[in-house]
Amino acid sequence: METIKIIVAGPRGRMGREAVQLIQRTDHFELEAVLDHKYNGILLSELEGFQGIDVPVYNDVDECLQKTKADVWIDLTVPEAGFLHTKKALEYGVRPVVGTTGFTEEQLKELKELANSKQIGCIIAPNFAIGAVLMMKFSQMAAKYFSDVEIIELHHDQKLDAPSGTAVKTAQMISTVREQKQQGHPNEKETISGARGANINGMHIHSVRLPGLIAHQQVMFGSEGQTLTIRHDSYNRASFMSGVKVSVETVTKLNDFVYGLENILE
Ligand code: NAP
Repeated sequence: METIKIIVAGPRGRMGREAVQLIQRTDHFELEAVLDHKYNGILLSELEGFQGIDVPVYNDVDECLQKTKADVWIDLTVPEAGFLHTKKALEYGVRPVVGTTGFTEEQLKELKELANSKQIGCIIAPNFAIGAVLMMKFSQMAAKYFSDVEIIELHHDQKLDAPSGTAVKTAQMISTVREQKQQGHPNEKETISGARGANINGMHIHSVRLPGLIAHQQVMFGSEGQTLTIRHDSYNRASFMSGVKVSVETVTKLNDFVYGLENILE
């Protein structure tokens, strides 16, 4: 298998550290450089937890992309920076694999247009856990028969965006098969604002943030006399790495934009 040369943005983050480990243990992956907004001009091995990994650290995205010969840019940062990094990577002809969540619809549209016009593969996946992808698919199947659904997503309390990208993606997938419906009583009133959660196409999404949690989601369907609950739990960040691996391998063969891991799994 041909070696895939990779840059990781956000290497000190919880996901970034897992991604660096994944690259280190995968024979046909090679870490070329990292982008870290707090460090520049050092080797990664000088930072705690990266012993023996002698690749350059940049804090400027242009410099990083100009000085590094890479095939893939893995982004695991924050939405504002992640959007800029992804745009820059595409402009420099480096294929992005983006796990960073919290992009707006307009940003996703802009990235899609850029990737497609440049004919450069780009994968943005709000959830790299294979089990989460199946949860979304099973929910989409169930929504054909159950039109009433509420999504409860639960994450650690350091998460910046709400609702989660996975919850939004689940609602979007359900919307493709579900009849348009405004759920709940037509005269329903919130006595405390936000009590019924966010609303996507009439479906409600509730975001729970607590220390101790990692990434969890439960999709609850209800109809006359029955409920159906589909639930997925990620107990650690290693659960996302098989999805990152398959995305890196796939993006090198793509010439367009893909949103969601489910679109590349066979
Ligand atoms: P994290 O531990 O907070 O790591 C974020 C990293 O980004 C940190 O190293 C942080 O550095 C860095 N960062 C912050 N601001 C930056 C900037 N302006 N430019 C460049 N880097 C910056 O978060 P995480 O749990 O690893 O998650 C990272 C991203 O992945 C989030 O968007 C999260 O929602 C997403 N995520 C996706 C999946 C998936 O399956 N797709 C799964 C889990 C998480 P400092 O510490 O110095 O601020």
